[in-house]
Amino acid sequence: MSNKALEIKNLSFKYRHNSKETLKKINLSVEKGKWLSILSRNGSGKTTLIKLAAGLLENSSKGSIKIFDQEVNQENFASIKEHIGMVFQNPDNQFVGPTVQDDVAFGLENKSIERNEMIERVDSALKDVEMIEFANREPNSLSGGQKQRVALASVLALQPDIIILDEATSMLDPKGRKSLLKLVQKLRSQYKITVIAITHDIQEIEQSDQVIIIDGGKKKLEGKPAKILIEDEKLESFGLEVPFTKRVRKRLFELGIILPNDYESKEMVANKIW
Ligand code: ADP
Repeated sequence: MSNKALEIKNLSFKYRHNSKETLKKINLSVEKGKWLSILSRNGSGKTTLIKLAAGLLENSSKGSIKIFDQEVNQENFASIKEHIGMVFQNPDNQFVGPTVQDDVAFGLENKSIERNEMIERVDSALKDVEMIEFANREPNSLSGGQKQRVALASVLALQPDIIILDEATSMLDPKGRKSLLKLVQKLRSQYKITVIAITHDIQEIEQSDQVIIIDGGKKKLEGKPAKILIEDEKLESFGLEVPFTKRVRKRLFELGIILPNDYESKEMVANKIW
């Protein structure tokens, strides 16, 4: 057994009704328990990549995709899906139950989990996302951030090994976004879950261990957030917006006017970037 949660080798992919290849010779791997962010402007192929990895799209492609050393193919879609929980962009599309707790229980009912265990798992997942006091609320009465926490609880209750965040914070305000990402980070380390986040927003990558940038279906950059964040010019050339405050902070640091603050990691300080 390797220590890889996901390993993609030389993956190219073309949709049947599209004349061009959507993915071109992608290579990447994520170690178990780490957080990978896949960053790109829209239309670059990140959703396609993640759908292929999660078995949501038939891999008629060249190249190989392995989840925990198991090749993803048509025969084992079902067992691959067992490992993966997904949180999508729009929380409103994810609710099926009349109350928060029914909603979290839904996936467990589908798996015929025994009643006592189900109650325990729902309870524990809602506590994990700090939503236990909302257990009897109607999902539609919650804020966007609270809805995403419930969506995350539904995923957690299924005890996945990998959580995929598919633009999961893009409909939240900055506070809700930060708080959801912090929560995912806490749960990742508590349960040793691997996180794969796809996003078009540079501000989302700070929590990750590793970032890849794709553009036009090709991998263009790879590294730790600190390394990626200083590549302002390259990022802009891939259509990614570098927040103004980041550019200003970087310049001020280069001039020796400010020191890095807390979230800017020790590594950034050691490498004298930021
Ligand atoms: P992203 O997630 O980065 O926005 P996508 O993976 O959704 O990118 O799309 C990448 C490219 O693949 C786009 O050019 C898009 O038009 C094309 N594409 C996506 N889905 C389909 C499909 N079902 N059939 C044909 N082309 C598609």
